[in-house]
Amino acid sequence: MTNMAPQHDIYDVIIVGGAIMGASTAWFLTEDKDFDGRVLVVEKDPTYENCSTAHTNSCMRQQFSSTLNVQISQFAADFVKNLRPYMGNDERVPELSIRNFGYMYLADNETFADSLRSSHKVQAAAGAATQLMTPEQINAAYPFYNVDDILLGSHNTVDEGFWDGNAVFDWWRRISRERGVEYVKNEAVAMTKNAAGTRVDSVTLATGDVISCSQVVNASGPRAVLTARMAGIELPVEPRKRYSWVFSAETPLDRDLPLTIDPSGVHVRENGGGTYQAGGHTDIDPAADYDDFNMDHGLWQDHIWPVLATRIPQFEAIKVQSEWAGHYAYNTLDQNAIAGPHPEVENFLFLNGFSGHGLQQSPAMGRGTAEMLVHGRYRTLDLSPFRFERIKENKPIIEKAII
Ligand SMILES: Cc1cc2nc3c(=O)[nH]c(=O)nc-3n(C[C@H](O)[C@H](O)[C@H](O)COP(=O)(O)OP(=O)(O)OC[C@H]3O[C@@H](n4cnc5c(N)ncnc54)[C@H](O)[C@@H]3O)c2cc1C
Repeated sequence: MTNMAPQHDIYDVIIVGGAIMGASTAWFLTEDKDFDGRVLVVEKDPTYENCSTAHTNSCMRQQFSSTLNVQISQFAADFVKNLRPYMGNDERVPELSIRNFGYMYLADNETFADSLRSSHKVQAAAGAATQLMTPEQINAAYPFYNVDDILLGSHNTVDEGFWDGNAVFDWWRRISRERGVEYVKNEAVAMTKNAAGTRVDSVTLATGDVISCSQVVNASGPRAVLTARMAGIELPVEPRKRYSWVFSAETPLDRDLPLTIDPSGVHVRENGGGTYQAGGHTDIDPAADYDDFNMDHGLWQDHIWPVLATRIPQFEAIKVQSEWAGHYAYNTLDQNAIAGPHPEVENFLFLNGFSGHGLQQSPAMGRGTAEMLVHGRYRTLDLSPFRFERIKENKPIIEKAII
């Protein structure tokens, strides 16, 4: 049972949000030999029922258009495949692997094919094993696709596919708690700043407790804006609804289905045991209400299923087993992470705006955030391109490969 009241009234680091980003940061803090401070993770819903982490597709890919995002996923792959060594060879920690069915991007026009070609160059230079495929090659490897309208595919089966994000999340929480990190079931509702407005002095909780802190991390997922506003900061992040369906096929495919991104934007992947997981969203894609997780039932029937059955004719005969709606923390500026300290409120750090690719980014972003908290700089992978300042400067670092 998680306590509501923190044990202390002052902490070195308060993390607002205890899902995958908050948990990763907390664990990496406990790994740092130069850090022996107190860490409080404030999580308003320890059932994690509605957070992005609970609604994820739990896949990782090397296929990004920016080198930094490729490198972040390369660290994710290394971390997942070596979870136990990373956790000090603790025998309780499971050995994980990646189910490498790969992602398959399909282009039906020259503009998108060119974009795949230029991303391929970025990925190859970073050491990723992505291959461009002609329709004939796609058909030879995966005869079940209809590729009549397809000009080019982009596919990679190395360190690309499903991984057990839940297991990593659990072990980050479990070990960091054992090492003294405190998780409380509570909600951050306000912050106070010093007179100059350059530092957050304290975080007020829904129970009325006012907790002092040296540094505070915004790991609040789709609610990032609300947490930033407590420190007087505006962020270009909003909740966007993303729908998922798990279905079984009357005649299952004879080989693993890559996580296929149809040119329409609908995606579908292998889910094991003759089942498949599809995802998509409505054409009009407004910000969602924070608590709105209602399904759009017409979307499946009118759009998703017809797209799937056209791309993979065997999916004419399928049966939906489960469905849910989740929220992306969507960065409207450039669909990329916002990380590191605020330039003026200098002890307020962001870990926000992951726009649908945050699960795989959690190892590198938690590690980098812990480095910034302890050492005031990134020591492994330089995450400074994700700095907050780019928003005010209006200098987006566009990630083209957003699903
Ligand atoms: C349908 C879907 C599919 C996805 N598929 C993938 C995928 O295949 N691969 C991938 O890499 N990523 C994927 N993602 C994205 C990924 O799930 C997210 O980027 C990631 O989980 C974000 O984690 P987070 O900790 O930042 O946010 P969240 O998981 O949303 O957690 C934020 C937490 O903060 C808490 N909180 C908020 N405000 C407060 C407050 N004031 N006080 C206390 N607690 C607070 C919330 O309760 C919540 O638990 C997907 C997302 C969705 C929705």
